Amino acid sequence: MKIIAIGRNYLEHAKELNNPVPAEPVVFLMPDTCILNNNKPFYYPDFSHDIHHEIEIVLKINRVGKCIDPRFAHRYFSEVTVGVDFTARDIQKIAKEKGLPWEKAKAFDGSAPLGKFVEFEKLPDSANIPFSLDVNGKTVQSGNSADMIFSFSEIIAHVSKYFSLKMGDLIYTGTPSGVGPVAIGDRLTGRIGDQVLIDFYVR
Ligand code: ZN
Repeated sequence: MKIIAIGRNYLEHAKELNNPVPAEPVVFLMPDTCILNNNKPFYYPDFSHDIHHEIEIVLKINRVGKCIDPRFAHRYFSEVTVGVDFTARDIQKIAKEKGLPWEKAKAFDGSAPLGKFVEFEKLPDSANIPFSLDVNGKTVQSGNSADMIFSFSEIIAHVSKYFSLKMGDLIYTGTPSGVGPVAIGDRLTGRIGDQVLIDFYVR
């Protein structure tokens, strides 16, 4: 199982980090050791002093595919949730400056807490999925899938040109604006609509 993640997929977030708006999806991979399930706590790693939260809609791939046509991409997932793409912003900054890969900033153990999946087709409006993150009861990020620069179908079509998709693969589809640091003791609660799908502590 692999995790594919998309960077800079919301205009306001690209702007807040002073990144250019991408002409094609920004893609990176994470290993399965990033996943934190069942609201397990996230342990703040000692190699960073600037871990940021990024709430994202996550798709679960349900069939094998390669070079998928965007018209058929919706057939490749049936469940979605929210997850957090924790980012060691201090390490990422150095990597960006030097033009180095992002794995140490993005793909460390436990960096991808994952919520409980819900049926995509059962969402009230699958073209408009509102989602949000609260830190200690205060909403810090809220977005809507309609504001993505690259849609779910475009993402699946693009990434499957390079990486064969397999059952159980996950796609983190990018974060809206409002990213910021977390601290030990924080409680993070992620929702789609008003449904809580992930709720865990930073330890
Ligand atoms: Zn992200």
